[in-house]
Amino acid sequence: MEHKNESRLTSTLQDKKEFTDLESLWEAALGEIELQISRPNFVTWFKNSQLIDKKEQSAYIALPNTFAKEWIENKYAKIVFAALRNLDGSITKIEFIVNNSRLANKLRSKARQNKIEITQQSFPEFRIDPETNLNPRYNYANFVVGKANELAHAATSAVVSDIGSKYNPLFLYGGVGLGKTHLVQALGNEIKRRYKSSVRVKYVSSEKFTNDVIWAIRNKRTETIKEKYRLVDVLIIDDIQFIIGKPSTEEEFFHTFNALYESNKQIIISSDKPPKFMPDLAERLRSRFEGGMIVDVGPPDYELRFAILKSKLEEKGVGLSDDVIGLIANKIQKNFRELEGVINRISFYQNIKKSDINAKIAEEIIAEIIQEPIKNISPSVIIKTVAESFDISLMDITGQCRKKEVVEPRQIAMFLLRDMLSLSYPTIGEKMGKRDHTTAIYAFEKINKEMAKNQNLNQKVLLIKEVLGKE
Ligand code: ADP
Ligand code: MG
Repeated sequence: MEHKNESRLTSTLQDKKEFTDLESLWEAALGEIELQISRPNFVTWFKNSQLIDKKEQSAYIALPNTFAKEWIENKYAKIVFAALRNLDGSITKIEFIVNNSRLANKLRSKARQNKIEITQQSFPEFRIDPETNLNPRYNYANFVVGKANELAHAATSAVVSDIGSKYNPLFLYGGVGLGKTHLVQALGNEIKRRYKSSVRVKYVSSEKFTNDVIWAIRNKRTETIKEKYRLVDVLIIDDIQFIIGKPSTEEEFFHTFNALYESNKQIIISSDKPPKFMPDLAERLRSRFEGGMIVDVGPPDYELRFAILKSKLEEKGVGLSDDVIGLIANKIQKNFRELEGVINRISFYQNIKKSDINAKIAEEIIAEIIQEPIKNISPSVIIKTVAESFDISLMDITGQCRKKEVVEPRQIAMFLLRDMLSLSYPTIGEKMGKRDHTTAIYAFEKINKEMAKNQNLNQKVLLIKEVLGKE
């Protein structure tokens, strides 16, 4: 996608600052990179990146795994290079390396000798407590309550003061970006704050849970799941919809659920839809969920959007007139993530230009943000994204070639068409180059099974999903 306004914004960055350490250089570069790619892409690919060294005009960027390295090399090398060079003119070359590779370790130990401080990327949102998996950024103080979320807010607060008895399980559902993760994490953080170590809290996304189950099965260590998830007093599982239809994960979750429930431990679940609209949900889980408290988080009205904008702008120290805030609240209706995107860009703009945002500039910024659809993924977008991520052509992925490098991505595309869009098998066959429906069934089953055994494949598929904007 073209970002004409952005290049104009970034090109105004003439007064280059001096960067004395790698971390702040990388942080500033990330700030620019973030503006050029969609939010899901940014978070997926850059969240665990580090600038680990800079020598002889080369910058070395460490990434968590080979897949991320290849992806960034292929797709974002130019953007990364431009961002770094823009900030530090001495850089003429960049190199991506896999974290924990020999080279990365060597550079790191050298940096340590030179006392260059390297820490994990210090976005506040990535400072996660390893014990609870909670992100301190989400709390009640920065959660704005309005009509759309007041019931959900009240229910989570009730759980904080009355753990494991009244609302158990608590099931929150609602569309993407409406604050479910924020609320359930705020609940966890509040319990932590109030009860300290006397109440053990654990937050887990259902993708992480799935990965843990897959790992445990593969390594014949299913007891680790028990140790990890059954020894807590409060278990928060986010986006439960992603474990539905994965039999061994569902099974494991069912046992975890029962074990906790029977000993009066608190369970909090979030989902994109209520249990009754989850057709593939096993009946035994459905009845468990329906036995607790179910609350929805609805789309925000104008007042709530306005209030959230005001509070976020304050948090970031960005001043904006009420007129302009009203304009943004009017235009961006569906999703708080888009709101945050607008705020980030506005704050960037003000920092760089040192000038106020008027209605016209605000409209330009909004127009760019809402061009990036996060939801409503079409079949062709899925097929295209899979092809791109494996670097094969659209012709190949839908064609007849039987080479392994093409067959696997093809099957992954069919898997995702079923998994994410619930398309019928004949439709999937049709979209994938007029194949028979049995081929689509076979592909789905194969990838589904394979993902349970093959961590690498599993990770690839999850990453593609994240790129597609489904977290
Ligand atoms: P979901 O999990 O429902 O997809 P999130 O909790 O991730 O949504 O919310 C998206 C973003 O919007 C987050 O950055 C979150 O902090 C913010 N947000 C959502 N609801 C509120 C609210 N009521 N007050 C303040 N920020 C909110
Ligand atoms: Mg969420």
